[in-house]
Parts: sequence; C-alpha cells; structure tokens
Amino acid sequence: MKIPNRIAAVALALAACLVPLVSPGPAAAKDGPLRVAVTLSDLGCAARAVGGSDVEVTVLCPGGMDPHYLPAKPSLSRKLGQADALLFNGLELEIGWLPPLLEKARNPRVRPGAPGMIDCSAALDAVLDVPSGAVDRGLGDIHPQGNPHYTVDPRRMIAVVELVGRRFGELDPPHAAAYRDRAEAYAAQLRERLPVWRERTAALRARHVLLNHQHWNYLCDWLGLDVIGEIEHRPGIAASPRHVQDMVEKSRALGDVVVVAASWDHLDVVREVAGRAGASLAVLPGHSGAEPGTDDYLAFLDVVTRRLAEAAAAPGKE
Ligand SMILES: [Zn+2]
Repeated sequence: MKIPNRIAAVALALAACLVPLVSPGPAAAKDGPLRVAVTLSDLGCAARAVGGSDVEVTVLCPGGMDPHYLPAKPSLSRKLGQADALLFNGLELEIGWLPPLLEKARNPRVRPGAPGMIDCSAALDAVLDVPSGAVDRGLGDIHPQGNPHYTVDPRRMIAVVELVGRRFGELDPPHAAAYRDRAEAYAAQLRERLPVWRERTAALRARHVLLNHQHWNYLCDWLGLDVIGEIEHRPGIAASPRHVQDMVEKSRALGDVVVVAASWDHLDVVREVAGRAGASLAVLPGHSGAEPGTDDYLAFLDVVTRRLAEAAAAPGKE
C-alpha cells in the first residue's frame, strides 16, 4: 500500500470514531480537575508536571509494556469515556488499540477533531526514519509514518511539555497561567539536566550502537551516538537468520559495539546477538515507570543514561 492510501486508511479508521453528538465545548465548564487520559507513561509525567492539582491523570499503557501492542481492554475504553482530554503519542504508535478504544468510549470530548484530542507529535520539528519507499503494515512494518519513539529524547519532551502547557490552557482558560508557569518550570528542569545526561554518556560516543528496535533512535540522535542498525529486520518484524548474521558480522568488523534493547524486547535473541557479536549489552526501561525508581521522567532518564554509561565502560565479550 502506498503512503497516501495508508493515510486515507488511517483517516477512515479515525473517522469511524466520530460521534455525531453535541459539540463538546471547553472541558473547563465543569467543576473539579481536568480529567486527562494519556496513552504513554512519559506523557503522563508531562501531564502531571504541567497540570499539577488542576488535572487528574490516567495512564492507559503502563510504562513496562510495549506501546505497539497494548491489549484493547474494555476497562481502558471506560477510562476514555470519562476523560476531558487525551494526550497521545501519534505517528501511528497507538494505531492498533486506540481507535477501537475511542470508538467504544463514544466520548465527544475525545474524538478526532475535538479540542481535547492532543497529538503530542505535533510538537516535533522533524520525524526520524521516515520510510523512503512504499510501506505496508500488513507485512508487519509498524513505523509507516516514521519513527514514533520521540518521548525517550528529553529535548523533544521539552517541546511536548510546552505544547501541553498551551493546550491545557486552551481547554481550561481560568488556569491557563498556572499551566504555562508549570510547563516553563518543568522544561527548565529538563534543560538543566541535558548537559549532565550527555556528559555521563560521553564514552559511548567512541563506540557504536546496535539497537534491537528503533525505540532509541531519537535518544541516540540527541546523544550523538553512531547507530549501525537494528537486530529487527524491519520495525516490528523479527530478524531472519541471514539478517542476524549480517548484524553480527558488521559488529565484529567494527568492534566496540554496544547492543541496546528495551526490557520488553525478546531478550533471548538480543543476548544471543550481543554474545556472538562480542558486544556489551544495555537493557533499558522502555518508558518511565518500566522499572521501580523510574516513575518520574527525570529519574527514568537518570537510569537510562547511567545504564548506557555502564555498558560503555564494559568490555565486549569475546
Ligand atoms: Zn516502534
């Protein structure tokens, strides 16, 4: 399927969620905090930091679960049914489960086109890894619009935080100044940590990085790391023995390779490749909350950068 057809298909899928009811109007007309559903735990951190006591945040995909494959449970559509706003990642990351949940929720406040629908990918200045040729999700490619995993890059999260501050202010004008101030304060906290995290991973810039999935490309882009490829054949498609052999040979020829994976990946394959490649291995929490002590986004990035630094300091295994 060509890309324009894909976009049309997605538009149709989203249109199916349209609910022809009364215009939702600003959510702030009601009393109490703004009820915000978020798809990812990282976006939940942004929503809580920006919203403070003016919002009540519900995370749909727990931090330890691969967000490509969340089961669309009825309990999640009930949560969406109560929401005044929905923050989602976009770039089709949630395409397998969010449209059916929205359809079941039948909530006019969070339907495509409603003010409460906040696509956080709108904050991006550029999307990485956009396919140059035809792509087909039917063949298993799960990044047809490019790489959706921008929330693990704190620079991109600063832009998301600023976007959330503006959008919350539009939904809830009486608290707009508070949202703006909290967004600025959280963005400043993130900006302050950027040089610390970059410095911590300095040794990794002298090595090469082999990813399991394209989950870490935005992070590697920010840190200036040399990504030599992925163990997956294509995003979401398991590696063939031939592709694994190619990656092992490439890694051995380059030397100094660190394999990077998320804790929800198929780690038996990842460990086997790292072992055969003589590479060191970093298994990282995929999102905030994926491990104890990473519930907060800043703590999550602390763990990620520490673990990368440890892997950079570890010799590869021959
Ligand atoms: Zn992915």
